[in-house]
This record gives sequence, C-alpha cells and structure tokens, in this order.
Amino acid sequence: MRIFRPLCRSFGLVVLVSACLAAGPQDFLPPALPWHGASEALIAKPDNPWITPAEKTGLTDSPNYDDTIAWLRKLCAATPLVKMMEFGRTAQGRALYVVMATKEGAAAPAALTANGKPTLLAQAGIHSGEIDGKDAGLMLLRDIAFGGKAGLLNHANFLFVPIFNADGHERSSEWNRPNQRGPVHQGWRTTAQNLNLNRDYVKADSPEMQAMIGLLRASGPALYLDLHVTDGLDYQYDITYIYENWGGEQPASSPRSSAWLDRYFHPAMDAALKQAGHIPGRYFDPTNDRDLTEGIYSGNSSPRFSTGYGDLRHIPSVLLETHSLKPYRQRVLGTYVFIESALRSVGEHGADLQTAIAADRAARPDKIPVNWGSGDGPETHVDFLGIAYEDYVSPASGVKEVRWLGQPKVYAGLSLKSNKPGLLLERPKAYWVPATKPEVIARLKLHGVQLETLAEPRTLTVSMYRLVNPKIQPGEGFHPFEGRHTLTTGVQRLTRTETFPAGSVRVPTDQPLGDLAIVMLEPAANDSLLGWGFFSEILQRTEYIEGYVVAPMAEKMLADNPKLKAEFEAKLAADEKFAKDPTARLQWFYERSKFYDDRYLLYPVGIER
Ligand SMILES: [Zn+2]
Repeated sequence: MRIFRPLCRSFGLVVLVSACLAAGPQDFLPPALPWHGASEALIAKPDNPWITPAEKTGLTDSPNYDDTIAWLRKLCAATPLVKMMEFGRTAQGRALYVVMATKEGAAAPAALTANGKPTLLAQAGIHSGEIDGKDAGLMLLRDIAFGGKAGLLNHANFLFVPIFNADGHERSSEWNRPNQRGPVHQGWRTTAQNLNLNRDYVKADSPEMQAMIGLLRASGPALYLDLHVTDGLDYQYDITYIYENWGGEQPASSPRSSAWLDRYFHPAMDAALKQAGHIPGRYFDPTNDRDLTEGIYSGNSSPRFSTGYGDLRHIPSVLLETHSLKPYRQRVLGTYVFIESALRSVGEHGADLQTAIAADRAARPDKIPVNWGSGDGPETHVDFLGIAYEDYVSPASGVKEVRWLGQPKVYAGLSLKSNKPGLLLERPKAYWVPATKPEVIARLKLHGVQLETLAEPRTLTVSMYRLVNPKIQPGEGFHPFEGRHTLTTGVQRLTRTETFPAGSVRVPTDQPLGDLAIVMLEPAANDSLLGWGFFSEILQRTEYIEGYVVAPMAEKMLADNPKLKAEFEAKLAADEKFAKDPTARLQWFYERSKFYDDRYLLYPVGIER
C-alpha cells in the first residue's frame, strides 16, 4: 500500500542504475523466511493440460493481459460451468472481463440472482502490480472445472475479475515494485490516466471504476473481495485482511453484515489458512515505520476504498493484503486458500449472510460515522508475530533506519489502536440537487441512488450550508490529489427559500443507498463530492466593489448604525493586523452591505430535515 520510490530510479544516475542491475533488481530486500505448507499441493503438475501460465513458471512470473484472457477463453470453451463477459473498457480501450462460475452456466451477472444463491465477487489487480489474486483465481477456476471442486458452486456463485486495472497491468516491468518479492514482471499501480482506482470508489472518475460500480449493481454480490499486496514492515504474517467494524469495535453502516463476517468468515479464513501452512493476521499499519514498538493501528476506512464503500452500500467487503516480502509462490497459494474458503463460507452460511444484508439495507440509522482517523480510537494489546530488527544510521538518509534480520520474534503486548470517526452525520429526509450540477446528479445515478427528477421548477424553503473556513487539501508538493483539488470545510446551517429549476433532483434518504447519498452530499464528509472538488466554483467571489466607492459607503454605514460602529471599533482594538490593513477594513464593510454576494460559499444543495 505504501509508496516508496524505486531505489534505482530516484537518483537517476547511470552509475547507480548499473550497480543495481549488476547486483540483481532487489538484493536490498530483507531476507525471506523459509516456507513450506500444505497449500503447495494445489500447484498443478507439469503434465496437467490445465496448468496455468503462472504455474508453468513455478509461480515466479505472471502472464500478460492477452495470455491471461486467452487461457480463460480456452477454459470457458471447455466447461459449461465457466463463462466470461466484458463489463467495461479501460481508458486505453482494453476490455474489462468478469468470469462467472455457476452450476447453471449463467452468462451474465444479472442472471445470477435467478438461481437464488449468494455470489462471491473477487477482484484482482485494482493495483495491477499486486496481482497475486489473478493467478490464484485462475488456479481455482481450473480446479472448479476439472479438479473436483465443482461442489463449491452447489450453494454459491463465483464471480472473478482477473485484472481490474488492465491498462496499468500492461505497463509491465521488472522495476515497478521495489518492495515486493515477485512476480518477475509486475504491472503499475495506477491507470493509464494516472488514477489510483483504490481511491476512486465514491468519486468514480475513471471508466474502470464506473464499470466496476455497474458490475456491483448488476451482480449484487453477497461478499466482495478486493485482493492486494502490502509492503510496510517485515513480519511473519503472509496473509492479512480487514473489513469494517472488525470485532464490533467501531460500528459503521452495515453492522449486521460485519457481525456475519466476525461470526463465520473470520474464524473460517483463519482456520483454513493455518491448516494450509499460512500465517493469517489482521491488516494494520505501523504507527511509526521506523519503530515497531510504538504499535500498530487498524480499523474502519473511508469510502474512497472498497471496504468503506461496500459498508455504505451494504455489500460486505473484505480487503486482502498478502505480504510483499513473501515470495510470489507463497502469496498466490495463500490467496487461493483465502478465495476458496470465502466461497465455501458464503455457500455454507449464505442464508444468514443474505438475512444480514437485507437487514442492513432496511436500516435507517440516525447517525452516519465518517472521517475515520488513523489510530485515534480505543487501544488493545496483541502478541504480534514480528521479525527481529536492529537500527543503524544510514549514510543515505542520515538518520536511524531499520534493518530486518529475518528472525521470527514475538512482540508481546504490542499496542493496537483502532480508528475512530471524526464526525457523525445526521440523517435528513432528503437532499435537493440543482440541475446546475449535472456531474453530481450523474454520479448519484451511477451509484444507483434513487432520485426524483423535477419536470417543472419548484420553489421551497430548505436548510442549506454556508462553508466555514474551507481549505484546499494539497497533495504531495501542493499538487492536486488524484487529479482533483480536494477540500475540507466546516459548515454553518441556514434556512433559505430556493428555486430549483426543472431537471433538479430530490434524493430521499429513505432508501437502501440512503447512507451513501448522505456521505456523498454532506460537505463536511471528507469523501463527499464537495470534498472531492465537485463544487470548487463556490469558493470564488465574482463581484467586487472599488475602494473609492466602498469608503464613503462604509462611512455612511458607521454614521447610520451605532451598533455596527461599536462592533467595528472593537474589531480594530482587538485585531492589530486588521487595523493596519485598509483592504481588510473595507472588505469588512462590503461583507455587511446589501451589495455582498449572498451565494458566496453557499453550498447549492438544499436539505429537507
Ligand atoms: Zn494495493
């Protein structure tokens, strides 16, 4: 998940590049722990006609897009259990494919609901350099078709997206993932538009994410797996995962689905992975990546990510992160075990899962938690299965760096903090989005939020917000973030009579996607559309007043209004900087005059409380 620049590239010096090439691409990685496990038996023998392209390399390399799709086409042609269809196109025009494995041979996601079975949707390659899921999924599909595992489909459907970020997948190189031990050829993290799909769930700017949201809507998965690889620290865990409201510690929007994950999924995954020789753990981040003893944190996330988004739209969603320092072979096998066990769990406890999802979709909580912090919630302590390390002063960084020693070590009683919400949003009855914001209306429709569209203009009294102290959030080096100028803001409530033109929409919150609509439309939510820069135009003042006009106007205001005069004098006495700033002084009067733009910083969405 983290971003460190490839060491050989950051200096751009030929001599350094040559030195790195001579020593092998990643000789600087910490030592790998020896590993063997029962999951090694999953690997096809060389004479198996359905050996996957990755298995042919001993699970050291991964096939390109064309070879992956060609292998899947061949599989589909050979078995009635597996079908494949295009569900969208990338920015560069590549087809995005979803593979459907069902007993009934369903050929489209919408047909899945017909058999009444719960559907597992596993998605590989949202970060296409983290491609373990693709090669694991191909092996599992092979075993469903020809390896005696068709029984997995008796009580569940399996949907599989082998390569989500297909353009990034083809920006392949041996030099893309410096923290990661294989495969030899790795795709790139972002899309051809340099967008990170793993920040794009709510704003849905990319054609890839728009297609994925369409697939989620069409297939209605009972469980959604988002398959990644994480770097960060060295530790013993090879398979880590997380979902919202883990252990019931911080309730979010789908508490009943999370309870199902706690009760059935979590123990089943841990047991299956341990039995297969893997070391499962909860996904976390270090508080300080130079000092593990400061502890770790883990918990709910924002809806720009799959798990936060899934929670808001009541699709139980699990983030899987294999550990980048483990060899590719070990990671693919662990991912296989994870997907297979998830499919089994969904089949065995599908009725309970579907009941939980229905209850979450029917619930209308008064408060929606948002703006999750990082490790600012309640603290527990865990015995952490880590790796021993020592510190040394690096002549490169000039400070203490960590050197991992390749020796397992238990860090007893390590601090684990959860995340806590920075804000609880109130649930109003409805929002009114004016027709002047077509891109906002389009995003709501894309997500499947139900809307009522005005055929005629309507005038009504609504609650509204004026932004208070809005701040553009600069990305690295004050550049935009994900191609957008993101914004955080406080809000002040006011009541206004507004006319909404024809084409405006009313968005009732009494609907299954009501929670999602609230988070998209409440400006104080960090992942709201305002937060993502969809309303940046309201930050600009567009009418002005000249100094030679405002000065006499201000003098008249002072003469006519003793209360205003007292207020002005108090401000002069209390604020020296203001007192010395003639422009600020005149601005103060302009803001209190009838000439001032009363739509300045006014969020144009109306709210029915
Ligand atoms: Zn990732």
